[in-house]
Amino acid sequence: MTEEPRDERFGVNFYGSEKLPDSTELVAQFQKIVDNRFARWIMTRMTEQKKFEHILGVFAGVEAPRNIKESTQSKVLEAALKRGMKTFHIENMEVIKGALKEKYVRKGVALTLRSVARYGITKPQIFDAPLMIVWNTTKLCNLHCKHCYANAGAKNPDEMSLEQKLKVIDQFDEAGVTMIAFSGGEPLMSPDFWKIAEYASSKGIYTTIATNGTLLTKNVVDRLAEVGIKYIEISLDSADPATHNEFRGQALAWERTVQGIKNVVEKGVFDNAIATTATKYNYKNMDKMLDLAISLKVKRFIVFNFVPTGRGKEIISEDLSPKEREDLLTFLYDKWQAKVGPEIYSTSPEYSRIGINKILDGTGKTYSPTHFVPMDAGSNGIAMAEFLGGCGAGRIYAALEDNGDLEPCVFLPYKGRERSERGFQRIMEKLQGLKGPEKQG
Ligand code: SF4
Repeated sequence: MTEEPRDERFGVNFYGSEKLPDSTELVAQFQKIVDNRFARWIMTRMTEQKKFEHILGVFAGVEAPRNIKESTQSKVLEAALKRGMKTFHIENMEVIKGALKEKYVRKGVALTLRSVARYGITKPQIFDAPLMIVWNTTKLCNLHCKHCYANAGAKNPDEMSLEQKLKVIDQFDEAGVTMIAFSGGEPLMSPDFWKIAEYASSKGIYTTIATNGTLLTKNVVDRLAEVGIKYIEISLDSADPATHNEFRGQALAWERTVQGIKNVVEKGVFDNAIATTATKYNYKNMDKMLDLAISLKVKRFIVFNFVPTGRGKEIISEDLSPKEREDLLTFLYDKWQAKVGPEIYSTSPEYSRIGINKILDGTGKTYSPTHFVPMDAGSNGIAMAEFLGGCGAGRIYAALEDNGDLEPCVFLPYKGRERSERGFQRIMEKLQGLKGPEKQG
């Protein structure tokens, strides 16, 4: 395949390297590392996720080798990594070891390398299991929002039992799932939430919660820290209480949510964000939302595309026109670059294109090729975006419903879905079959 010529400013720059090969070269170099006989020797012997994670732990110095073979594997891994680092002009092995001290990093690295060993380098990359699962833990919710994709309200009689939920976490852990986002309905309405969050965290999975924020009292926030939740995303639709409450179908929802955000920020231990779904209801007042986000001192402000599924189908006419979306995203980008408050992101792919164009005309400095990560011009963002791919549904990411159905995405209730209790790996393979990523070389 012929690659399009690229502006050097968007080339590849691994960890501060001064050399800027483009993403094709990056993939070719990565292929060389994978083809290296040491690396291949290791990867073909560590096809089991748990074993691979353990060897990475030995290498990072946080786990003890159980026998001489494991010490040798760790040393060979180090030798292979050194060769790779040389290729990418990375000098400090301690940086890599430091990152691998985190269990979720070891999970993600092991899953990625196993996937490359199994499928080769593909563009976008095929993964053996999703790095991330969004789990709609319950349909139960204390609000009744107009845009709710889950059509939440009452508890589904078919919701998994606690025992089944814990079993599913075991499957995720074995497969190498690195991150779980607990969503709903309102996850904090489910009595099972605390046990499953704690259990997933205990497995070293990076746990996060997406909540409407109305139940985030100081006690609840303390408990979220205790069960190991790392990131809290709170949805808010307007800076105006009446607009938000009308949209959310509940008086005083805004007041409780804003107090919940204050409690989370005050606790000081979570990564956090305000999430807003952009519709005709609120897009003209996004400046006021941003002022509110700044005054609340949240770390991120994320604007989600409205996807008319669930109850959202009833307000499809409230979706933005392409022109309205472009104006909104341009406004958000300029605010982001002004650096006066939180990092500002959007799930719209157009946001990345706007960033790149702004850098090219000299009016921007960063862009966001993967929705939630800022990249400077000259960084490895485009290579990373091509490796991770555009839509990750059923590949990098999957959705688990409250009843155990595994789907490619919360917005894509694929009809051929199956229950996760029938075997997570097998279902993932079926979901992967929905897509046909282009193989390199
Ligand atoms: S959008 Fe969230 S808060 Fe609103 S009804 Fe649905 S699950 Fe509940």
